[in-house]
Amino acid sequence: MKKIKVANPIVEIDGDEMARVIWRHIKEYFIFPYLDINIIYFDLGIKNRNITNDQITIDAAYAIKKYNVGIKCATITPDEDRMKEFHLKKMWNSPNGTIRNIINGTVFREPIIVKNIPRSIPSWINPICIARHAYADQYQAVDFFIEEKGKLYISFVPDDNKKNKSIKFKIHHFIGPGIAMGMYNTDQSIYGFARSCFNYSVYKKWPLFLSTKNTILKTYDGRFKKIFQEIYNNEFKSKFEKLQITYEHRLIDDMIAKSIKLNGKFIWACKNYDGDVLSDFIAQGFGSLGMMTSILLTPDGKTLESEAVHGTITRHYRLHQNGQETSTNPISSIFSWTRGLKHRAILDKNRDLKFFSEKMEKTCIDFIESGNMTKDLFQLSYKNEKKNNYLNTKTFIKKLKIFFDERIKSKNI
Ligand code: NAP
Ligand code: MG
Repeated sequence: MKKIKVANPIVEIDGDEMARVIWRHIKEYFIFPYLDINIIYFDLGIKNRNITNDQITIDAAYAIKKYNVGIKCATITPDEDRMKEFHLKKMWNSPNGTIRNIINGTVFREPIIVKNIPRSIPSWINPICIARHAYADQYQAVDFFIEEKGKLYISFVPDDNKKNKSIKFKIHHFIGPGIAMGMYNTDQSIYGFARSCFNYSVYKKWPLFLSTKNTILKTYDGRFKKIFQEIYNNEFKSKFEKLQITYEHRLIDDMIAKSIKLNGKFIWACKNYDGDVLSDFIAQGFGSLGMMTSILLTPDGKTLESEAVHGTITRHYRLHQNGQETSTNPISSIFSWTRGLKHRAILDKNRDLKFFSEKMEKTCIDFIESGNMTKDLFQLSYKNEKKNNYLNTKTFIKKLKIFFDERIKSKNI
C-alpha cells in the first residue's frame, strides 16, 4: 500500500509508563508504515514536564489550538508518592486539566462495542456518549475548614463598584467546626458547552439529554437548563426536527434511571462532576476502561483532542519493568489515533485518511470478535471458565497488524 499523504500536521502528545510502551508500538505498527504525516511531537512524560517546569504542557495545548488536532497518550498526574518517585520540583497539575482549560471544550466519551464482550447492563446494545462540561464547578472551587463558631458569607464585588452593587449572602451560622465551599461557572462556558453538545448530536444523529439538579440548585443548575433551551430554540430546533432527533432536559436522578431502560445511541450532557463520575459508571456498564474513547471538542467543532480514558496502567508497567509478561489492551489508545486522524481527514477533506481511520477501527472490532483478546476482555467474556488463552501485549498488537495487512492486501476492508 502506498503511504497516504496527510497535508497538515497533527500534534502528538507522548505520556507515561505502560501507556507509553503501547503508544510506541502503535506508532511503529499502525501509523508510520501507512501514513506520510508531519507529526509535531511533545513529550509530556513526567520527567520532561519536571525538566521544563510544565511549560511543555502549555506549549502542547497551544500547538493543538494552532493545528486543530491533538492525539494524547495517558500521563501521570502527580501526587505525594509520585513526587518522591520522580524527585519532582512541584506537584505539577494534571496535564488533562491544563490542556482542557487552554482549549476550552466539551469531553465526549463513548464505549467501543464488540459483540462477544458481555455488558454488565444487558439493555445497552448501543453506545451511550457522555458529554462532560470540562470547565469549573468543583474542579475550580475553593473549599476550606471552618474551625470555630461564626457566620459564613459569600460576596461578589463588581470591578466597577461605583453604584455600590456588591452582593452578600449569608450561607450559614456555624455553632461549631465544619466545612464550606465556593463554586462558580460562566455563561460563556455554558453557551460553548451547549453548542458543542448540539453540534455533536447533529453529527452523530443521536438525541440529546441534559441532566441537572435544578429542583435543588434553582439558579445554578437552572442556568444550564435555560441556556441549553435557548440555544436549542434559536439555533438547533429545525436541524433536530429534520433529523428526527430530540432534545430534553431531565433531572439527574430521573436520567440515571432512564439510562438503564434505554438501549443506547444517545448523548448525555453532564455537568463537570456528574460527567466525571458517570463516565466511569458507563465504562464499567459496557465492560472495560480499555474500550472507551474520549475526545475534547471545541464549541465551533474545529479543534479536537483525542485520548484513551484509562491512565498509565501502573500495575502492568511494574510487571513490564521486572521483565514479566503483561496483557494490556491497546484498543482505546489505537482509537485515540483513529479519532484524531479522522478529524484531520474531515478538516482537510482527505478521503483516503478518513477511509484508513474508519477501517482501522473496524479491523480492531473484527479482530476481537474473531476471538483475539487481552486479559481484561478475556475475563469478561469467559467469566466462569478456567481458560486463560488470552494474548500478551506485544502478541496482540503484532497479530492485529497481520490481520490488518491481510485485509489491505485482499482489499477486504
Ligand atoms: P489506570 O491506569 O486506568 O489503571 C487501573 C486499572 O484498570 C489497571 O490496573 C488495569 O486493571 C485496568 N486497566 C486500565 N486500562 C487498561 C488497559 N488498557 N488494558 C487492561 N487493563 C486496563 O488507573 P491507575 O492505575 O489508577 O492510574 C495510573 C496513573 O494514570 C496515575 O498516575 C494517574 O495519575 C494516571 N491517570 C491518567 C489519566 C490520563 O492521562 N487520561 C487518566 C487516569 C489516570 P488490572 O490491574 O486489574 O489489570
Ligand atoms: Mg473519573
